[in-house]
Amino acid sequence: EQHKLEEFREQQGRTSDGIRVVLRANIGLISDIDVALRNGANGVGLYRTEFPYMTRASFPDRDEQYHLYRRVVEGFGGQPVTIRTLDIGGDKALPYFSPPREENPFMGWRSVRVSLDNRDIFRTQIEAILMAGQHGPVKMLFPMISSLEEIRACKAVIAEARANLRREGVGFAEEIPLGVMIEVPAAVMLAPQLALEVDFFALGTNDLIQYMLAADRNNPLVNKYYDPLHPAVLGALRQVTRVAKKLEKGLCLCGEMGSDPITFLALVGMGIREFSMPSPFIPRTKALLKTISAREARRASKEILAMADSQQIRAYLQRELKKSG
Ligand code: PEP
Ligand code: MG
Repeated sequence: EQHKLEEFREQQGRTSDGIRVVLRANIGLISDIDVALRNGANGVGLYRTEFPYMTRASFPDRDEQYHLYRRVVEGFGGQPVTIRTLDIGGDKALPYFSPPREENPFMGWRSVRVSLDNRDIFRTQIEAILMAGQHGPVKMLFPMISSLEEIRACKAVIAEARANLRREGVGFAEEIPLGVMIEVPAAVMLAPQLALEVDFFALGTNDLIQYMLAADRNNPLVNKYYDPLHPAVLGALRQVTRVAKKLEKGLCLCGEMGSDPITFLALVGMGIREFSMPSPFIPRTKALLKTISAREARRASKEILAMADSQQIRAYLQRELKKSG
């Protein structure tokens, strides 16, 4: 395994027919930087900033957040780092910020909804991200967007943050690419309109699957309903990929289905060329890529998109993987 790490660290991800596929890291803590670098990540596709918030006794102030983000950005030495704003609620709680008890936390007050209702906290985080943007190529990502109003409200907070920093005479990056997570079915339907507001999409399949199929991602009782190869899920992913391509927007898939070989094959076939995953999966995904022909994957993906049954899709992809591997 160690030998493999060495072998793949310096290599770019490429299919057997030479198509470049970018593999970035999902990170949460400072200690993840080293792991990502050792595994040869192309920067960070998803920095889950709630992790540092969760391990503290109170909300970190702006400077603390700035220093933290700056360390991450500098750690990746010029490679892009996508910083996602706070995504608490659902299954992620902060010890010092107790939201009201909810019957349905995943359908409730979570993620960007919490941020938009706590503008000071939100603006402070955005200021810290803008400040960190001076030290390398930072992108800003908003989670759980389900309407145009929400992304517009987020952009209004960015404008406030900029004005604030300017007034204070604090340095910050003027141009930061903005993105939205596509992880609520409404965002799939609205992708063409959302694309006009942002520079890139991040496909959050962990949540997208649970919301599309009404199956809690953490509930073992409905495990069998939580199916990444459900034809409706594949259709949605295909739709978003098409929109991104047509409107020339970036697209990175950062859900767990990017690190399973079977689903990975289908996603490469759909035309997805950027993934973000837990770092330990990166070297083995590069190895897998070398055995996949983009052309064959594309043909396979056309086949499965015409199938109505997930079992059949899985069996088909399994056969395709065996053929190539
Ligand atoms: C997702 O929902 O797919 C995702 C990447 O974000 P998280 O797992 O943090 O909700
Ligand atoms: Mg999510």
